[in-house]
Amino acid sequence: MEDKSISIDALISTMSVFKKLYDVVRVVNPMKKQILDLKLNKVEDLESSCYNLWKKGKVCSNCVSARAYNERETFVKIEYNGEKVYMLTAIPVELDGVPVVLELLKDVTNSGVIENIENKDSGTIHDAVNHMNELVILDPLTKVFNKRFIDERLPADIISSSLNGEPLSLIMADIDFFKKVNDTYGHIAGDEVIKMVADTLKRLIRKDVDWVARYGGEEFIVCLKNTSKNPAVKAAERMRKAIENTIISYEGMNIKVTASFGVKTLFEEQLSEEELIKEVDNKLYEAKNTGRNKVIA
Ligand code: GH3
Ligand code: MG
Ligand code: MG
Repeated sequence: MEDKSISIDALISTMSVFKKLYDVVRVVNPMKKQILDLKLNKVEDLESSCYNLWKKGKVCSNCVSARAYNERETFVKIEYNGEKVYMLTAIPVELDGVPVVLELLKDVTNSGVIENIENKDSGTIHDAVNHMNELVILDPLTKVFNKRFIDERLPADIISSSLNGEPLSLIMADIDFFKKVNDTYGHIAGDEVIKMVADTLKRLIRKDVDWVARYGGEEFIVCLKNTSKNPAVKAAERMRKAIENTIISYEGMNIKVTASFGVKTLFEEQLSEEELIKEVDNKLYEAKNTGRNKVIA
C-alpha cells in the first residue's frame, strides 16, 4: 500500500494554509477525544477535550472525526455551540504513521444552512442541527443508535473508562427464535417486536449516560458506563424480564417473545472494542446454547 504518512512539519505547514481559509484548524485524536499540540515538533495531548468547543459538556453523539478515523474518509457535519453554526470537515491523516484527524471549522452561521436563523431561538437551532446529525447515527426502525454509532462511540467509552479507572459493562441481547415470529406472524409484525425490544432496553437504561444500539437484525448492544458486573447482570435481568412480560398486540394477534443476554464487564483489563464485542457475543452464545431466555456473564 502507498505510504501516505506525513511529518509533523508538513502537517504544520498545511495547517497554516488552512488557517487562512477556516476559522478553526486543529488536529485531534477522536478516540481519546483530545486535541493534539504540534508546536514543539512533537505531538502532545493538550489538556482540553475536543468537544469543549461545542459547550455541551459531553462527548458529541455524532463525532465525524471518529467516523473519519474509522472509515479513513473525509466527513462533514454541521454543529452549533449556542452562538455560531459551524461546518466541520474531518480529514483522516497519518501523522508519522499514527492516525489522527485534521478538523477544519468554518463559521456558516449566515450562510443559510439553517433557514431564517436570525428569527430562531438557540433551542430551535440546536434541535434543527441535532436532527440533521442524528439521521446518520440512528436506526430508522427502532430509533435507537445504529452500528455506525457503536463503531464511533465504543472505542472512546472504553478509553475513557480505563483513564478514569471505572468499570464498563456491555450487554448483548438477541431475540429468541425470532425466525419463527416472522414465519408465524409476518415480517411487519416481526418489526413491531424488534421495536418493542428496543423501546424496552432504552426505557431501562440511564438517560444521557448509557446507550442502546441495534447491532444487527434483532440484536442489540447496551453500554453501561461506570457499571460493575453485579449491577450490569441485574440490569440485563430486568431487561430480560420486561421483554418476557410484554405482550405485543398486532392486528388482533398477541405476540410474546423472550431474549437471551450476554454480559461482559471491563475493569483494569485492556480490550479493544472488537475483543469486547467478541467476548460479550461468546456469553450470548452460551445463553443460547443453555436454554435461552437467560443472562450469562
Ligand atoms: P435464536 O434464538 O438462535 O436467536 O434464533 P433466531 O430464529 O432468532 O435466529 P437468528 O437470531 O439468527 O434470526 C435472525 C432473524 O431475524 C433472521 C432474519 O430473518 C430476521 N430479521 C433480521 N432483521 C430483521 C428485520 O429488520 N425485521 C424482521 N421482521 N426480521 C428481521
Ligand atoms: Mg435471535
Ligand atoms: Mg440474531
